[in-house]
Amino acid sequence: MPDFVPHNDGTLLPSEVIAHHEAGHAVAALALGVNFDQVTITSDPELGISGGVIREVDDNPRRNVIVAMAGPEAGRLELERLIERVPGRRLELVGDYHDACDQDDIDAELACVDDQQRAAWTAEAVALVGTQVEAIACIATLLVTSREVSYLQAKAAFEAAQTVAEVSGV
Ligand SMILES: [Zn+2]
Repeated sequence: MPDFVPHNDGTLLPSEVIAHHEAGHAVAALALGVNFDQVTITSDPELGISGGVIREVDDNPRRNVIVAMAGPEAGRLELERLIERVPGRRLELVGDYHDACDQDDIDAELACVDDQQRAAWTAEAVALVGTQVEAIACIATLLVTSREVSYLQAKAAFEAAQTVAEVSGV
């Protein structure tokens, strides 16, 4: 059973989920060529655990939406994987797992586009996370152990995961 810790929005989540969430943002940024300084998770006794990716301001709505959506999508996948493994109990995730800050960013970008564009970008974010599970897991592990992953560390993990995928033909 994973440890459930308070998240900054008051929900209880395993720290692995936060790590996957942040790693999801980082991997989407790497896949789309968006620069960032570092990705972190921090634990505050009052605020709980939270994380972030410090990145360059990007005025491309598609990239912004996909990077913002990739975090909650990666976190949701990890949460589903974890609850499947809780011994002796059958749990399911009800409703959406999302983050209020990311949702604000996503809503701001999507306000200017039509439904078709919105659906296309959503599908692109889901597909990106689905094909980058290895890279996300690798960066999430680094985050859980060291709390801070630099752009270069994340890039190295991302590139290593692409090589493995090519060799194994996945
Ligand atoms: Zn996020």
